[in-house]
Amino acid sequence: AVEGAGLDARARELDRAHVFHSWSAQGALSPMVVAGGLGSRVWDHEGRSWLDFSCQLVNVNIGHQHPKVVAAIQEQAATLATVAPSTAALVRGEAARRITERAPAGLDKVFFTNGGADAVENAIRMARLHTGRDKVVSTYRSYHGNTGAAVVATGDWRRVPNEFARGHVHVFGPYLYRSEFWATTPEEEGERALQHLRRVVESEGPSGIAAVLLETVPGTAGVLVPPPGYLAGVRALCDRHGIVMILDEVMAGFGRTGEWFALDAHDVVPDLITFAKGVNSGYVPVGGVVIGEEVAASFDERVFPGGLTYSGHPLAAASIVAALDAMAEEGIVDHARRIGTDVLGPGLAALAERHRVVGEVRGVGVFWALELVADRATREPLPAASMARAKSELLARGLLPLTADNRIHVVPPCVVTDDEVAEALEAYDAVLTLLDEE
Ligand code: PLP
Repeated sequence: AVEGAGLDARARELDRAHVFHSWSAQGALSPMVVAGGLGSRVWDHEGRSWLDFSCQLVNVNIGHQHPKVVAAIQEQAATLATVAPSTAALVRGEAARRITERAPAGLDKVFFTNGGADAVENAIRMARLHTGRDKVVSTYRSYHGNTGAAVVATGDWRRVPNEFARGHVHVFGPYLYRSEFWATTPEEEGERALQHLRRVVESEGPSGIAAVLLETVPGTAGVLVPPPGYLAGVRALCDRHGIVMILDEVMAGFGRTGEWFALDAHDVVPDLITFAKGVNSGYVPVGGVVIGEEVAASFDERVFPGGLTYSGHPLAAASIVAALDAMAEEGIVDHARRIGTDVLGPGLAALAERHRVVGEVRGVGVFWALELVADRATREPLPAASMARAKSELLARGLLPLTADNRIHVVPPCVVTDDEVAEALEAYDAVLTLLDEE
């Protein structure tokens, strides 16, 4: 432990001296040290451990250090650690096949990227070139990544200081708990959000709109599962106007919702799907676009003007093959669905009954949010200081949480066990009691 404490201190010291962190003022940072992990747990050098109900950034769907994925990366590294994207590499083809097999029929090709943002970036580019149009409609309550068009398609605060791309239009999507449409039922919310989108598309000029870009289930914005019929309505609107429909599954895909793709529960087939995170649980950085036949055909004779040195990197491809095979063999997606339906969902609903600070519980699979409020009647969000306290109290109880605005996102690995969920619910329960008392 003494040696461990030294390593933790050294990690902190090096970090503060030399590492520049994302989305932060650098001055007052004090990041936690993570030295290792296994399954649903992570630990520091001193041996303090936490149940990882953040999945880091909602990406470690298969859990930490899955032995089959680690072995596949090691084997691939020993065989061929890197290769140009213009080559035909068996492992890349195997990865692409496993992804397209799980996508709806007609989406048969994959353009690999380094992560989620550049997947969105390239999906937007494909839509623009395919349609010859410029505008992209996305929602205010969204996050699509930190590159030129992706960050401007993003709706949250991160767009505002980065607004250097043109052609982006934003709408409000469905979010019944804080409805922009005075709706009182999911059906009403879905219909009115659709009508709002329809009016914006008409007013922007449909013949100038290349794409509607939506997260199938907006994640960072608060796990906003769309009401039945909403996405099918968006599909119909896109069809009417020749607009490319892009579903961003970077966070929602590959088991998070208890489906291979979150769109599987919504009876909708987009033209393009973006993915990253869960496809290989982030063991090697990777993302991509699954491309439908119509958009793909645009580039049969014409050059696709885009590429990346590491597109379809062999270590990434090997990790995708192993992760998807392990998820299939071990029934991990079905397990995530069952955990959501039978254990985590009911457990969180019970917490909401007991704690007045919980305004709403929503989610599916291993993708949930507890929306915390100062007042249930007015739905006033719980203040930032209380959220900071919630975070530190959860950490002190051995749970690594994900908090965003006034919400706790409950996003464990798809492999989380019933016992681990029980342990986490106990920690949430204790901390919500403290918040109730404030
Ligand atoms: N799209 C969605 C829906 C995301 O949640 C994220 C990241 O959280 C991204 C895109 C960006 O992915 P990356 O951080 O890998 O670039």
